[in-house]
Amino acid sequence: MSSSRFPRFHLLSIQEQRQKLAEFAQLSAQEVSLIQTLNTDDTQSIHATIENAVGLHSLPLGVAPNFLIDGQDHIVPMVTEEPSVIAAASNGARRLRVEPGGIVTKCGRSIMLGQIQILQVPNREQAQIDVMQNADQLINTANQALPGLQRRGGGALELHVRIIQNEKLLQKCGPIFLVEFEVDVCDAMGANAVNTMAESLAAPLEKITAGQVRLRILSNYCAKRLATATVSIPLDVLAHESITGLEIAKRIEEASLFAEIDPHRAVTHNKGIMNGIDAVLIATGQDVRAVEAAAHAFAARNGQYTALATWSLQNNLLLGQLTLPMPVGVVGGATAVHKGVQVALKILKKPSAQMLSQIIAAVGLTQNFSALYALVTDGIQKGHMKMHARTVAMASGANAQSATDVAKKLVAGGDISSDAAQRIINDE
Ligand code: NAD
Repeated sequence: MSSSRFPRFHLLSIQEQRQKLAEFAQLSAQEVSLIQTLNTDDTQSIHATIENAVGLHSLPLGVAPNFLIDGQDHIVPMVTEEPSVIAAASNGARRLRVEPGGIVTKCGRSIMLGQIQILQVPNREQAQIDVMQNADQLINTANQALPGLQRRGGGALELHVRIIQNEKLLQKCGPIFLVEFEVDVCDAMGANAVNTMAESLAAPLEKITAGQVRLRILSNYCAKRLATATVSIPLDVLAHESITGLEIAKRIEEASLFAEIDPHRAVTHNKGIMNGIDAVLIATGQDVRAVEAAAHAFAARNGQYTALATWSLQNNLLLGQLTLPMPVGVVGGATAVHKGVQVALKILKKPSAQMLSQIIAAVGLTQNFSALYALVTDGIQKGHMKMHARTVAMASGANAQSATDVAKKLVAGGDISSDAAQRIINDE
């Protein structure tokens, strides 16, 4: 198996980078050409994707090499407009290639939750007994609505009732008689699957409860579908210029505690994690909003918004851990139709949904490590502005060829502004 460790990969030309990627992921010439343009002149198929599609909106697709996850080498496809995200991911992944297998990951079963809101139930206690007595039949009904999942070893598993009431509900509509059911959605993200099942339960539940069914929809808060990435970093890997590895580990632990305790810091800590996660989600055609919503709800699960990833110094190791819900799929949704997404999944060795969720958690942990490492050493701006300088150069009129030179001069001059870029371009 080839290594994903590519020293100085970022210094290669775009053609050389594509070549290395193609060799690593065994991409055909056609697949390379697909990710090269990600364009199509097939206007009919564009028009069929979303309502009123009038064109395509492009973002750069990059790759982050160097990932070692559970002993497997990975090059990770990432789509982002933020210049420093992939640089930080690649650099962090290089440091996290620790013995024996790099970043260690795991995840739960692909369980999603469906919710059916029932109002005006005349006798809630009796209705609850009746629903639970008919639970097996109701689960059967849900599975008949989507028999494919059961055939694959998943499907609707169990249901329960919750009665929600408070002062406002009592004034407006009365208590909510809520029926929730769990579904193992296998390799799908599962939103459509769960919604189909939820709708199939509406009529039988109205009959059993004598109430009125209102909402029938999944909950995006999939608290059982958790992906976890952990890493144990020896201190010598952390040393930077005159700062010892021990000192850096202590500073990262302090930074973690800050985010664990203060929600204002936690939001930015978590945003940094999502920089990496969202980029992989977009590249692999996922429902980014679903993962974002679930992640932030999970971060507030104990009543206060807190850090999703935490770091601590123990026995001369810096231990990092990230856990978050990860509703992703490798079938259905955009994965079924978007050719570029299919190549991105091939670059990731065609993972199962669970494997994909683990890779994404590893990327999130790496992104957080890189951000904290920069923050406790040089500060975030040094690396960030170096990358940002190219964008400033191009926004100020530099072309693709001259942008790198202009960016270098901007960094050397210590003034990364459009005025400075303009002066450099005019002088050339
Ligand atoms: P889907 O319906 O396209 O795919 C699921 C279907 O794939 C299942 O019905 C199953 O029969 C089939 N399938 C084939 N092989 C499978 C396998 N190995 N494992 C599991 N299923 C397999 O999509 P979905 O995953 O149910 O829903 C995801 C889509 O729904 C996304 O496009 C998302 O944006 C969209 N969506 C999201 C929300 C939300 O609130 N997040 C709401 C509505 C729709």
